[in-house]
Amino acid sequence: MPQYGHMRLIRDIGSRTVLTGTLLVTAIVVTALLAPSAMAQAPTAGPGTTPAFDLGAIDRKANPCQDFYQYACGTWLTTHPIPSDHASYGRFTELDDRNQLILRDILEKAAAAPNPDANTKKIGDYFASCMDETTINAKGLAPLQPELDRINAMQSNADLAGVIGRLHHMAVDVLFNFSSGQDFKDSSAVIGQSDQGGIGLPEKDYYFRDDAKAVETRKEYVAHIGRMFQLLGVSAADAQTRAEIVMRVETALAKASLDITTRRDPVAVYHKMKLTAFEALSDSFNWSAYFAALQPPTMNDINVAVPDFFKNQEAMIKSVSLADWKIYLTFHVVHSQAAMLPVKFSEENFAFFGKYLTGAKEQRPRWKRCVSAVDGDLGEALGKAYVELTFGAEGKKNTLEMVGQIEKAMQQDLDKVTWMTPATKKKALDKLRAITNKIGYPDNWRDYSALNIVRGDALGNSVRANEFEVNRQLQKIGKPVDRLEWGMTPPTVNAYYDPQMNNINFPAGILQPPFYEKGGSMAVNYGAIGAVIGHELTHGFDDQGRQFDPQGNLNDWWSAGDAKSFEKRAQCLIDEYGSFDIGGGVHMNGKLTLGENTADNGGLRLAWMAMLNSLAGKQLPKLADYNEAQQFFLGFGQIWCQNNTPEVERLRAQTDPHSIDRYRVNGTLSNMPEFQKAWGCKESMPMVRGGKACRVW
Ligand SMILES: [Zn+2]
Repeated sequence: MPQYGHMRLIRDIGSRTVLTGTLLVTAIVVTALLAPSAMAQAPTAGPGTTPAFDLGAIDRKANPCQDFYQYACGTWLTTHPIPSDHASYGRFTELDDRNQLILRDILEKAAAAPNPDANTKKIGDYFASCMDETTINAKGLAPLQPELDRINAMQSNADLAGVIGRLHHMAVDVLFNFSSGQDFKDSSAVIGQSDQGGIGLPEKDYYFRDDAKAVETRKEYVAHIGRMFQLLGVSAADAQTRAEIVMRVETALAKASLDITTRRDPVAVYHKMKLTAFEALSDSFNWSAYFAALQPPTMNDINVAVPDFFKNQEAMIKSVSLADWKIYLTFHVVHSQAAMLPVKFSEENFAFFGKYLTGAKEQRPRWKRCVSAVDGDLGEALGKAYVELTFGAEGKKNTLEMVGQIEKAMQQDLDKVTWMTPATKKKALDKLRAITNKIGYPDNWRDYSALNIVRGDALGNSVRANEFEVNRQLQKIGKPVDRLEWGMTPPTVNAYYDPQMNNINFPAGILQPPFYEKGGSMAVNYGAIGAVIGHELTHGFDDQGRQFDPQGNLNDWWSAGDAKSFEKRAQCLIDEYGSFDIGGGVHMNGKLTLGENTADNGGLRLAWMAMLNSLAGKQLPKLADYNEAQQFFLGFGQIWCQNNTPEVERLRAQTDPHSIDRYRVNGTLSNMPEFQKAWGCKESMPMVRGGKACRVW
């Protein structure tokens, strides 16, 4: 799926590094809501459901006041080693794996259906073509040849813009990014969005850190690029030279880019200007040829996220030779489609992005990669079939009920806040009341009739799907905002808050055990799915979300004094999480993870308050010897049980706004007096921050 996320600010609950066939994508993961009766009708191919509360996961030799994560998950961690085709494995991976089996079943049946309807035919043909490795290998590079020829036919740098417009139209990330998005300051308007782009490593700083590991990573990346050129038939020596050229171009692009931590501030990436002013930033680039190839609708205003990036582009167009541009573009075209090229390309792609960067030992089986590809390219056609099979009306009703309880808890929490003046508090309550909820799946399913899927043409299908999506995004410019659109597909095991829509979204994929168990302990459900709902709601009020008003506009509604009080409280979390050392000389980044940590910190407290409201003084039956408070904290701790390779922990610490699982649990709970009381922890224990405890909301 094309990576249009650049300017989107949606905050999801978890994160997991997933290797799609081609790119290393940080997808997210986790969360779930209510469990539908759903799984009862699901195919029986998969393993049984994962219990929401797992006594067998607990390490009773550990001390909950010393290291609660170890206590809640210790036995699970030793009994669930990472499978060789994963770089991390957690309790939501178990759920995700089960979803994949359901999706495979849907797709295999679709591929074999004698008289399929239009959508069933599309997903069946796409899947069958993706699975047909023999045909893919036999075709070789032929399906990509027209693109490679177009690059090689360039006569001067003046031809660059037209070729890049064509590559952007097929979602190849070269030089910069161009798409659409809501205007930060007028969420009812969709305008053009231009942004930095064109690099292959995960983030700007990968090009400039000077520790031994970073130097090694760049060397390995260059070696990988070289091997990709060798697969294209280039001699070893020449391939090395070309790889170094690609690296040089990318380094120049990275230098002019903003780092991920800076990019979390919406003000830093908002520079609205007229199209003519944007074009003037890089005068030597033939914009009319670019837009003729990209084909966006007429537009006047665009947001230029990083103006200096385009000034640098101007310099690069003058200084980088045509031969070097050809080499850079050729690598990225092949890189972007490696998943649908002959196996040797996808294997080489995995060798660097999967094995080296994430520590996975082998590629996911082809069927899993093809399920992901259909989910990425035809997500709502596949998702519709998934929802019909798994998601009942009851799931939606239960979820809405719990969301209502958590929202009520947030209102009570805001009422009690002492560090805000009444005027700002009133505005916060207005924003809370304006938040809308989307549960399960879209009301209006996407229309794929304009997308042509051809059996036996895996690469062509992928390219056309990218073009369809690029076009769909661009055609939003100048039209009313579709507030019913979803940013995740229905089977996704995750959830998100969107500050420009001011809504919270819970796909069907997460609304099942272990996140919510029908008939399970109410306390465990509040600790698991309740914490997830609270987390997404709190995102509306984290360091980023708080800058948007009830209508989703970037608009400062805080008094100066209240904003200062907020920042002081946030600083406590920056310091706390920044102190976690993951080993190998890497620390967590307290600023990068601030929004997520704020959401965990506030969200779990909201879930706790909602549980107390529901219990109304009653006690729940004990589970083993655990009372309801202990069940609640175990429910929370256990959704995060996850083994990660050291490579994934490094990658996440350097690129992921979500804290690594162990710190997510211990970092949140050590700030909660309710936790310490539930487990009888003494002041001196590590899980008690006492006077240093952080609390934003
Ligand atoms: Zn989040």
